[in-house]
Amino acid sequence: MSDNSCIFCKIAAGSIPALRVFESPDAIAFLDIAPLAPGHTLLIPRQHFQSILDVPPDVLGRLSGHLPPLARAVMKVSGATGLNVLQNTGESSGQAVFHLHFHLIPRTEEDQLGFRWNAGTYGPGEDKAMQAGLLMALKAQ
Ligand code: AMP
Ligand code: ZN
Repeated sequence: MSDNSCIFCKIAAGSIPALRVFESPDAIAFLDIAPLAPGHTLLIPRQHFQSILDVPPDVLGRLSGHLPPLARAVMKVSGATGLNVLQNTGESSGQAVFHLHFHLIPRTEEDQLGFRWNAGTYGPGEDKAMQAGLLMALKAQ
């Protein structure tokens, strides 16, 4: 399954170029064209899924199985001491390409990427209400 208008489907098909670093029957990985750090790599399934919301669990399982060796290679070659694995889902999260992908972003103590969480807090009872909502939503699936 592929989408004619999808740039990552075109990369998977080889109809537009990318600097590939990994290929398997189900997935490919290639360098991000606009890296947050040298070695910033994208891992995608060959099949077109938009995001974590529509990918079948078995496809996601196979895809994520490629993350450990890829992460080790990206860290080794980039000299990173850490790595962010990031999957954006939806425009509000920053997703720009609507073909499921994992970012592997090399990190060092000195980098200026500024990926730091502005952690919040729950008001009284809000955490329990959230827990109940999530338990119900999961039961309903
Ligand atoms: P996201 O914002 O999570 O959808 O990330 C999309 C990523 O795809 C961005 O980091 C882009 O730099 C990257 N990207 C877009 N087009 C290409 C391309 N032709 N080759 C490699 N990376 C790309
Ligand atoms: Zn696609």
